[in-house]
Amino acid sequence: MMASELTDAFGRRLSYVRISVTDRCNYRCRYCMPESGVERVPHEKIMTFEDVFFLIRVLRDLGVGKARFTGGEPLVRRGLVPFLSSLCASFPGLRVALTTNGSMLSACAPELVRMGLSSINVSLDTLDPEKFAAMTRGASLKGVLDGIDALLDAGALSAGMSVKMNVVLIRGFNDKDAGRLIDFAGERGILLRFIEFMPLDRSVWSGESFVPFREVLNALPDASEWRSEASGPVEFAGPARYCVNGNTGQRIGVITAVSQHFCASCNRLRVTSTGEVRVCLFSNEQVSIFDALRARDEGALRERLFEAAVLKPEAGMLLNRDEERRMSLIGG
Ligand code: SAM
Ligand code: SF4
Repeated sequence: MMASELTDAFGRRLSYVRISVTDRCNYRCRYCMPESGVERVPHEKIMTFEDVFFLIRVLRDLGVGKARFTGGEPLVRRGLVPFLSSLCASFPGLRVALTTNGSMLSACAPELVRMGLSSINVSLDTLDPEKFAAMTRGASLKGVLDGIDALLDAGALSAGMSVKMNVVLIRGFNDKDAGRLIDFAGERGILLRFIEFMPLDRSVWSGESFVPFREVLNALPDASEWRSEASGPVEFAGPARYCVNGNTGQRIGVITAVSQHFCASCNRLRVTSTGEVRVCLFSNEQVSIFDALRARDEGALRERLFEAAVLKPEAGMLLNRDEERRMSLIGG
């Protein structure tokens, strides 16, 4: 009999899927994409929302409890908001989440709150408009700030939505902005998470750009107030660890993919917009589920998913960086 839950060869239950709905993005963040953007994938090779709906139904039966939608920039894909709304309505126990650059958030924030989206991560690396434009190659900071305000004004926090701000730390760019970003998040009651820059793509990675979180924390004026917290709000065994400020009570998270691995508790599965299952951010192994999805062949789809689960390595390797593993392709 076929197993009813997705488990890998090391006994880890795969209960969290991250699905990229597009490779395209309206930004060109220097650490993520080349200036020319990514090569356009023909429309017919991209999963339709009906394909994704079918995938979620099958994954739900296999024990997946959380689905995060990402990209590229997911909100540039037309129809995403009504699609998320239909998922929330059709799968009441499923935690539906979104990762976005925030630029298109202000228009849809009330709808996201109304549908019961469980979590939203907004990427915001600096509060300096000039630096922001330089890093994104031309985007406006105001759009993102308006998006965050719209979300909070729509009652996201009181509706129980988890609102997080993701900051990728890059030496010489925003490593000195940490204090301001912490205050910004604290004033709004949202959780800030610092993400260590990951060496996924050799065209943008340089060893000097990486800055360990500990160093950033130690440089804060109130460094001695920050203590690491043994167990933070565990969200489906996420990779974030938490620190709490003894004076203000503010909590911040850190995702230390580089300086400290979190593979032992990894419960993730990633699906690219072309229907490739990637079982580890640091591995090139992938299994295509595109044909099975398109054919609505549940048996074949389950088989392919189990095949992928078995390929999940015990621990990710930071070797062989290449452009095939750019974040915008895999979906962060
Ligand atoms: N466009 C959306 C956004 O920016 O939030 C979703 C996709 S983006 C690829 C997902 C997350 O990956 C963002 O928080 C982004 O900052 C992060 N990211 C991109 N490249 C990265 C890298 N090389 N190292 C660490 N994080 C990275
Ligand atoms: Fe686009 Fe997000 Fe990559 Fe920036 S990090 S280029 S917003 S996909």
